[in-house]
Formats: sequence, C-alpha cells, structure tokens
Amino acid sequence: MTGAVARAGAAGVGSRRLYAQIGEFLEAQRLEPDPANYAFAHAILNNPSGPLAKAVAALTDGGVRLSAKDIEDLGVDVSTTGPGERAKTEGLVAQTQMQVEGFHDVVSGLHAHTQDFGRDLAAGADAIRAAVPTGVAALEDVVRITATMVTRVQSAEAQLEHATREAAELRAKLEEARDNARRDPLTELPNRRAFEERFAEDAATGAPVWMAVCDVDHFKSVNDRFGHAVGDRVLKAIGAALSEACAGHFVARYGGEEFVVLLRGLDGSAARATMEAARVTVENKRYKLRESDQPLGAVTISSGLTLARDGEGVRTVFGRADTLLYRAKSDGRNCVRVD
Ligand code: GH3
Ligand code: MG
Ligand code: MG
Repeated sequence: MTGAVARAGAAGVGSRRLYAQIGEFLEAQRLEPDPANYAFAHAILNNPSGPLAKAVAALTDGGVRLSAKDIEDLGVDVSTTGPGERAKTEGLVAQTQMQVEGFHDVVSGLHAHTQDFGRDLAAGADAIRAAVPTGVAALEDVVRITATMVTRVQSAEAQLEHATREAAELRAKLEEARDNARRDPLTELPNRRAFEERFAEDAATGAPVWMAVCDVDHFKSVNDRFGHAVGDRVLKAIGAALSEACAGHFVARYGGEEFVVLLRGLDGSAARATMEAARVTVENKRYKLRESDQPLGAVTISSGLTLARDGEGVRTVFGRADTLLYRAKSDGRNCVRVD
C-alpha cells in the first residue's frame, strides 16, 4: 500500500493511471469496488502526500489490510482543509494510537511466551546433556540442535524486547502529540480545539453549561508601551489568574487576548458571581516589569456570559457570549454582561 501511494505521488499522471491505481489499491486491500471504497481510495491516491494517505500508509505498513471499519472510521470526506479534515486526522491519530496499544500488548504477550519457551528449552537441553552418555551420536545431534534453538529463541526475545520498547516510545509520542494539539504553548492552558471538544462533552451531560468569553481590555496598549514580550508575560499571568479564580471549571485560551470559561452545573447567580470574582482577581493583580519593577498599571478584562440552550452548537453559544462581551466593552470595560 505504501508503494501504491508513493507511485501515485511520483507519477502525478492522468485519470487513466489514477483509475488503474485505485483498482490496484482496492485489490491489494481486498476491498469491494463499491462507491464508498472507491471514493476512499480516490481520496488517498489523488493526494498521496496528504494526511489521509500518510495515515493509511502508517496503518497498512507491514502488510496489515484495512478493514471495513477502518474505512468507516477514516471517512471518505475528501475535503483537504477545515474541520472535516481535522476531525479525520484526529480519528486517525486515535486509531493509530489504538493500533500501537494493541501491538504493544501482542508484543508483550509474545515476549512473555518466548521467555518461558526459552527457559524450558534451556532446561531441557541441560537435562539431556546430563542424562546422555558421551559418544551417543544421535542424541548428541539432539543436544546440538536444541542448543541452536535456544540461541535463536534468545535472539527472537531480544528483537521482541526492542519492538516492545519502540511501541512504548511511539505510544508516548502519540500521547504527547495529542496533548500538544490541545494546549496553548504560551499560557499552557487548553486551546480552542480542546474548548470546542469540552463544550460538546459538557453539553451532552444535560447539566446547565454557562460559557464566558473574556477579552483583555486595551491590550494593544500594553504591547505598545512595554513590548510584545511583556504582553506575552501578562497574558500568561491573566491565564493563571483566571484558572485560579475559576478553579474547578474549564478555562482555555481561545486565541490572541481572548479566554473562554465553561461553567457546568451552576445556576445563573453562581455563574455570574464566579465570572465577577475572576474579573476582580485579574484587576487586583499587580503587574511589574521584571527588569525595573516599574508597575504596568491595572490590566482588566471584560466578559460576556451566557447559558447554552438545549441542542445549541458551540458557535451559536460563543456568538451570543461574544455579543455580550462587546456590550461589556461599550459599557466601559472591566465588567461582566449576562443575558
Ligand atoms: P479592547 O479593549 O477593545 O479589546 O482593546 P484591545 O487593544 O485589547 O483590542 P485589539 O483587538 O485592538 O488588540 C488586541 C491586541 O492583542 C493586538 C494584538 O497584538 C495583541 N495580541 C494578540 N495575541 C497576542 C499574543 O499572543 N501576545 C501579545 N503580546 N499580544 C497579543
Ligand atoms: Mg480581542
Ligand atoms: Mg482586547
């Protein structure tokens, strides 16, 4: 399969060649030439260096055939950008991770078996050696063959150990990649993607979910007066202050100087009180220049807070909270507006 994708990439030829490659791919993967499988193969071979092709290559490397379930999970949406593609890549990462975990288990199991087998063989060889008088040619052969088998088993054992270690490393890297994809490196808070996923999870619980969108007031002037690096440090401090004030709730950096908070299971007055307390915490922080101790003056945030209604998507709720945030801005900033 890796070869088929690579060939398609190198050739970049016309539709006849592509058609033939799709046929080869379906045959190699023992897939029915039905419309879904055809579209899937087309998506891979038509963009052989794309993420879908790479992920399929990774899944099928070493000759593992794609199952119908793999194809369903991978999806046949052939768009190359946007949330569809992102979700697909996500699915692939999750699936690769599952495969690595499965591989790890299989290899660990094999390793244990080989170890037992090697130990039994070695013990058997010793027993034969002790029991057989020297000079009995046929039995000496058995001893020799057994000794060779012991050596081979030991070598297989070493290879399995190496493979187990590699699988464990790969698993750790995948976990790290998953985590990095959901974390903002500056503030170390969850990012917008993590926020969107969390909103969907929270909304599915049926508990009330409040969303607050918080934006730093006149942040451009912090950058203008003290430089971007100081601005970055202030953003980090505001992220920490918000997390502290909203402990137990979900705080993420949405982007730029905007943060979002999800408050689950609270009534309106508790949600409002939490965001009001967060506003005061940020306002009361004293920011100073590291080099000279010069105070930066107060840095404040404005927030829009709204309750997600049944069945509403993250964008709808965010849009409403954002409108409330702009009301807070036009009402003079450093305040919370709730609908
Ligand atoms: P307002 O009260 O209306 O929100 O005013 P503002 O100045 O905060 O808003 P504006 O949208 O005009 O400016 C936002 C600024 O935030 C501009 C941009 O350079 C800065 N900013 C966004 N992301 C970062 C970042 O990661 N680091 C730094 N240092 N600045 C950032
Ligand atoms: Mg802004
Ligand atoms: Mg701002």
